[in-house]
Amino acid sequence: MTDPTWTPRTLLAQALGHIDEASRAVVPPIHIATTYIRDPDNQYRSGNVYGRPDNGTIREAEAIIARLENAEAAMVFGSGMSAATAVFLALKPGDHIVASSVMYWALRHWLLNDAATWGLKVDIVDTADLQAVRAAIRPGETKLVWLETPSNPLWSITDIRAVADIAHKAGARVAVDSTSATPILTRPLDLGADIVMHSATKYLNGHSDVIAGALATAKADEFWARIKRVRATLGQILGPFEAFLLIRGMRTLDLRVRAACASAMELATRLSNHAAIHQVLYPGLPTHPGHELAKRQMQGGFGGMLSIRIRAGEEAAIKAAAAMKLWKRATSLGGVESLVEHRASIEGPGSPCPPDLLRLSTGIEDVGDLYADLDQALRA
Ligand SMILES: *Cc1c(COP(=O)(O)O)cnc(C)c1O
Repeated sequence: MTDPTWTPRTLLAQALGHIDEASRAVVPPIHIATTYIRDPDNQYRSGNVYGRPDNGTIREAEAIIARLENAEAAMVFGSGMSAATAVFLALKPGDHIVASSVMYWALRHWLLNDAATWGLKVDIVDTADLQAVRAAIRPGETKLVWLETPSNPLWSITDIRAVADIAHKAGARVAVDSTSATPILTRPLDLGADIVMHSATKYLNGHSDVIAGALATAKADEFWARIKRVRATLGQILGPFEAFLLIRGMRTLDLRVRAACASAMELATRLSNHAAIHQVLYPGLPTHPGHELAKRQMQGGFGGMLSIRIRAGEEAAIKAAAAMKLWKRATSLGGVESLVEHRASIEGPGSPCPPDLLRLSTGIEDVGDLYADLDQALRA
């Protein structure tokens, strides 16, 4: 149905070009049924049984994500958090996890406060530091290394290929939260990771109107089957309407990500010279500690996310966010609208986020308008 030479942009625009056989529609119908007719001999040759484990609309979204990530299989979930926790819940009691110290705060919180309830042992290290990763891994006991790159909200870069080598030698899998990189800029499975996770709420859907998550796997192995059972038994599947919106959102993923990357690069460069700012954190800047690695690991751009540190401190940062008109003061990221957030106040104690930091999610608005609004707010 699709040509192997087609690029992600082409595949996405046509949502893999799937045509509904019954109606010949170019937009597939939404499969909302919770249950399906059995064959006369009681079998289910259609592959459809019941709505909790699976349905046709879900499979369409999964086929797109699997293709983008060069994966054997993908699964979509009711949120990014449910996708991530399904991976951890597929481990066994006593298994040891090494995870990035700079990462999505709610997941770090779950790992540090709740994972032990399930018998999981967790060590948090700076995964950008390969020595620290080596030191944290317990051969035979460590079963999973969880990375986020670029990581929230400092946008530090972890070397996926190097960590995969270290982890695999010790018998551990590597999973990568690639939400901020998107499949357009980085393909973790091609770099040796075993599983890639997305909060599809962010760039994949891209319109701030669906909560969703996704996993994609290099191998549809026994561990993948365990994750699938976790999703089915806990009922973590995405609803069919949300899956349809996600498919629609993904049609423009390539365009949106490239627009956001170009604007973020320009903003990062201009803001680096702004008198009110003492540091811009963006992997596209040569001054960023992960820049050389990001150049190798990310293709086509450095992402739409950046953070700025306000010279006059925390109070001035909060005031600057309040003075912005175009940038909307809200959590989340990866939507068509630009968002600004003072992260330290949401992340709370234990966060590696400096109090003078504002996180910027660059949308697809005109970059001149975006800069002008930041500039007037920083001067106010
Ligand atoms: C938002 C986010 C998550 C959590 O996803 P939800 O869809 O909100 O559950 C996980 N990781 C990253 C990097 C995120 O930005």
